[in-house]
Amino acid sequence: MIKMKQLRHRFVETMPEKIDPGTLYISMEYATAAHRCCCGCGEEVITPFSPAQWKMTFDGDAVSLHPSIGNWNLRCRSHYVVQDGRVIDAGAWTDEEIEVGRRRDKEARTKYLADKTGTTTMPSTSPPTGRRRSRLGRLIDLFKLTFV
Ligand SMILES: [Zn+2]
Repeated sequence: MIKMKQLRHRFVETMPEKIDPGTLYISMEYATAAHRCCCGCGEEVITPFSPAQWKMTFDGDAVSLHPSIGNWNLRCRSHYVVQDGRVIDAGAWTDEEIEVGRRRDKEARTKYLADKTGTTTMPSTSPPTGRRRSRLGRLIDLFKLTFV
């Protein structure tokens, strides 16, 4: 069951002490987001951005997170998708799904680390010149390159 049907996004530099329910705090500086579990249990959920973890997209109006947020470590075991600021119930987890999800998670992370320490291939296209790019811009470019 999802009580919180929407998440307002708020871009922050560092995570505030107090995480308000219904708000998705996003720190580009630390490439992570935090919110309180949308089932209403109020547990803090941290979603780090990385190729092996979550991908955040901001269309200028609302934020989406990919893949779904599976809180199998929480008692509520809630599972939902954040799309365009809306919280969509993704259905309860079965024990098997949790096992598969955990394994996939681990594999993705292992692969990501292996890729990082392996040979690095540089993209062949040169970045746009002439315009001084902000750190945020570079981060967004990094995401684009990683997820194309
Ligand atoms: Zn919950």
